[in-house]
Amino acid sequence: MEEGVYDKNNIFAKIIRGEIPAKKVYEDEKVLAFNDIQPAAPVHILVVTKGEYVSFNDFVQKAKAEEVKGFFARIQKIAEEQGLDKNGYRIITNHGSDASQSVFHFHVHIIGGRPLGALIPGDTSHR
Ligand code: AMP
Repeated sequence: MEEGVYDKNNIFAKIIRGEIPAKKVYEDEKVLAFNDIQPAAPVHILVVTKGEYVSFNDFVQKAKAEEVKGFFARIQKIAEEQGLDKNGYRIITNHGSDASQSVFHFHVHIIGGRPLGALIPGDTSHR
C-alpha cells in the first residue's frame, strides 16, 4: 500500500459497511466501537472513526477540531461504560511501521480489566 493513501477495502471499512461482522460496543454517525478479535486483556475495544483516515497523523491533520474532540470524548465515555475508570485502562494508537500498525484505518485500542504492566512489553522503565 502506498503510504498515506486510504484503502476503502481495509478490514475496518468493511466492518463499518457491515460487510464483515463485529461485536459492536457503540455506534453513532461518526464513531464505531467493537471488540478486538484478538483481545490482549479482558476488555479490548477498538474505537474507529467512520471518516476515512489512515492513522492518527492523518486524523489529527485532516479532521476538524470538533471531530477530534468528539472522538476522544467518546473513548472516555466507552471506558466509563465498561467500568474501567476505577482501576484504570490504557489507550493505544499505532501509527506506522515502527508501531506495527496493521490496519490502515485510524483506530484507538481501549485495553483494561487487569493490571497492564509495562507500557511496552519487556520495558520496565514505566513501572
Ligand atoms: P493495529 O496493530 O493497531 O493496527 O491494530 C489492529 C487490531 O485489529 C489488532 O489488535 C487486531 O487484532 C484487530 N483486528 C483485525 N481484524 C479484526 C476484525 N475482523 N475484528 C476485530 N478486530 C480485528
